[in-house]
Amino acid sequence: MVKAIVGACWGDEGKGKITDILATTADIVIRFQGGSNAGHTIINDYGKFALHQMPSGVFNENTVNIIGPGVAFNVPYFVKEMNYLKENGVPTPKILISDRVELLMPYHILLDSYEESRLADKQFGSTKSGIAPFYSDKYAKIGIQISQLFDEEILRDRINNACEIKNVLIEHLYKKPLLNADEIFNEVLKYRDLVAPYIVNTTEYLHKALADGKEILLEGQLGALKDPDHGIFPMTTSSSTLAGFGAIGAGLPPHSIKKVYTVAKAYSSAVGEGAFVSEIFGDEAQELRVRGGDAGEFGATTGRPRRMGWFDCVATRYGCILQGTTDVAFTAIDVLSYLDEIPVCVGYEIDGKVTKEFPVTSLLEKAKPVYTVLPGWKTDIRGITDYNDLPANAKNYVEFIEKELGFNITIVSNGPKRNEIMYR
Ligand code: GDP
Repeated sequence: MVKAIVGACWGDEGKGKITDILATTADIVIRFQGGSNAGHTIINDYGKFALHQMPSGVFNENTVNIIGPGVAFNVPYFVKEMNYLKENGVPTPKILISDRVELLMPYHILLDSYEESRLADKQFGSTKSGIAPFYSDKYAKIGIQISQLFDEEILRDRINNACEIKNVLIEHLYKKPLLNADEIFNEVLKYRDLVAPYIVNTTEYLHKALADGKEILLEGQLGALKDPDHGIFPMTTSSSTLAGFGAIGAGLPPHSIKKVYTVAKAYSSAVGEGAFVSEIFGDEAQELRVRGGDAGEFGATTGRPRRMGWFDCVATRYGCILQGTTDVAFTAIDVLSYLDEIPVCVGYEIDGKVTKEFPVTSLLEKAKPVYTVLPGWKTDIRGITDYNDLPANAKNYVEFIEKELGFNITIVSNGPKRNEIMYR
């Protein structure tokens, strides 16, 4: 059976923690999109970890972790994360890398930062991990598949071709030093030995695993509002963040996905630019920011302070629809325990009309939040393990939101640790 764990909104919803919990009983955890551009924070018996590219099943000795063909695979980053796990006492994880995954090349990172500098005050707020240039190359068919590392003639040819194209932009648009194809070839050849032990035909592997009844988790990165087709375009990422794409980016039949856990945080946070209807500012935002997550809402990749806001039912409902949600995992409700009253965004007012439908970006930019203010519970709820033991106002908060979303909240997380979780 396949389960997907994906984000409802902008990302940073706490998917890492939910995946870490579900991974304890999973045979296989798969990353199916994105790359090292987003971070998952995981706290378990080995300590606290910020993982970027590694599947969150790496802490379980019995779990096989797969880098699916849909990932933007950064080899130096892979090596760095393997070392990071080792240095922190995590036993060597079982990892398989798809023989069809494409390589994030050194020039993708360069071009990402050149482009962000060129855009100056019109920046997207990219993490400069090379993700947009990587996926551009993939769909322009000039990317480099990991299997091509093992044929020097093809590899040289592909790199020469990519450099020829990139150097036009680098010379005339960005006015930076030209790429040297030989240097890149020699650099990338070093990847070969680093990845060779892990490369397999993961599609065949998964086909067999399904037939054997294995439990498989698809681990999404970012959230539905960052999806290039359905999200807040163009403030989106460059690969699909939706569970449906999990089938493609991993190499599994679409009908094999039986459960979609959409992770939604009890308040909102976002990184990067773009419309954010329920955003709050100043001291009010700073208070929520420093109390948020396990150590404040600061980017796991960049350390940037995240933009903060109240829970947005309009955006989250849309995210739940897009994901094909069977279960909502509602996280970080403990963070709100300090508030007397908690505003919840239940509608958007656009040109004088109130809607609950998430609009296209041009209208989203005009939207004003319509709030319902709920009473707070004003008591520490960490340590509670039975949902029924929550204060009435905390249950009311969960159930009010559940009704607005129209999707069942079956998991409620009340702290960053593995055991701080309640099932309904
Ligand atoms: P992801 O990218 O969706 O995995 O999310 P991040 O890891 O970037 O952000 C989630 C943050 O919230 C991390 O610091 C987690 O440790 C923390 N977290 C997860 N669940 C909870 C929770 O229920 N309560 C609190 N206080 N923090 C949580």
